[in-house]
Formats: sequence, C-alpha cells, structure tokens
Amino acid sequence: MLQRRLEEILEAIWTAEEKGDRSAKQVQKDARFQLEEPWLEELKARDLIEIRPDGIHLTLQGREEARQILRRHRLAERLLHDVLGMEAEEAEGDACEFEHAVVPEVTDSICTLLGHPRVCPHGSPIPEGKCCREARQMVERAVVPLSQLDSGEAASIAYINTRKHTRLHKLVAFGLCPGVQIRLHQKSPSFVIQYDETQLALEPEVAADIFVWRSPEG
Ligand SMILES: [Zn+2]
Ligand SMILES: [Zn+2]
Ligand SMILES: [Zn+2]
Repeated sequence: MLQRRLEEILEAIWTAEEKGDRSAKQVQKDARFQLEEPWLEELKARDLIEIRPDGIHLTLQGREEARQILRRHRLAERLLHDVLGMEAEEAEGDACEFEHAVVPEVTDSICTLLGHPRVCPHGSPIPEGKCCREARQMVERAVVPLSQLDSGEAASIAYINTRKHTRLHKLVAFGLCPGVQIRLHQKSPSFVIQYDETQLALEPEVAADIFVWRSPEG
C-alpha cells in the first residue's frame, strides 16, 4: 500500500475527475489538506499521475490504485452508515481513516456483508470488486426450478429432477433435455412453455421438477 498522503491525493484526483474537473484547483478543493509539490512529484516519479495542461491525470496504474482507495472509502461509508447508523457526513472522516487500513480480502468481505452496494450514502458510485462480479454472475447464472421463472422469461434446461421415471421419460420424449432453450409463456392455470416450434402445458409439480439456468438477458 502507498503512504497515506499519496493515497489521499489519488483519492482527491479521482473525485475531482468524477466532477469533470481535473484542474489542480479542484483537486486541491477535494483534498482535505494543502497539496504540496513534493507529493505530486513523488506520484509522478511512481508513474501514478501525469500533469497535463488541463490538469492532473491518473495513469493506468494510478487509476487502479485510486479505484481501490475509493472502493474502501465508500464501502466504509456504507458500513458506518448502514450498520452503525452514522450520518453520511460524520461517516466521511472515519471512512477516510478506514481506507488506509484495510486489506483487500477484508474489503471484499465487507462488500459481501453489505450485499455489494453500488453507491455510497452520498450517491457516489462504489468501484466494484471481484466479489461483486462473482456475485452477479451467480445470480445471473443461478439454476432455479422452472416454476420460479416469470411469465415471458427465457431459460435453458439444466436438469430434470423427477423421482417418477415415467414422467421423466415423457418429458425427454417431448424433447425436454439439458441444454434446451425454453420460454415460459404462462403460469396459470397451468404452466405453458415454448421451445422450438412446440408448446407444452405442464402441471405445477412437473414444473417444479425441471431446473433451468436463467438467461442473463431475460
Ligand atoms: Zn477517503
Ligand atoms: Zn460518500
Ligand atoms: Zn462486492
């Protein structure tokens, strides 16, 4: 991890950029301390920032560092606000302490605990982590019983879990087997699914035995 002051400057550059103003003046405003030239020189020497005519830019590496810092800061705000009941404004200062102290694994645990929030209590976006992407994939790719789909929802068959073999054989005879793409037409009075050119009505117990992958695109 970088020294604390360097992290705070990267944080200020990031938030200034979010406001669409990369000028040194805006960065100074966002930093809660006097920006000293040697610190900027240090960041430049480490290839984390570039000074250009329109202001201070993060390099690729600097952007990644800043992302992690902002992620820790805004997750800390959420934690202090949602779990400890602090006001967004008072959470701000403590969040800034927190962001320098927490290692990545703990950050992801907190993110998971909080349900992978997308924004901080002020409404600023929380950069997402590996945990958020994994959670989203799990939700998107979750296997559910066909009976849990919404009307109109598309899915593909994962497996059929029926203890009644005659029923299973019947479904397979209808061409319903793993990998087949289906769309749920209606849920009542019976379940009607569509696949290829076929429409098939299913009893609710049968629909509960068919497990499908939800399609991410719906
Ligand atoms: Zn901070
Ligand atoms: Zn915030
Ligand atoms: Zn997450």
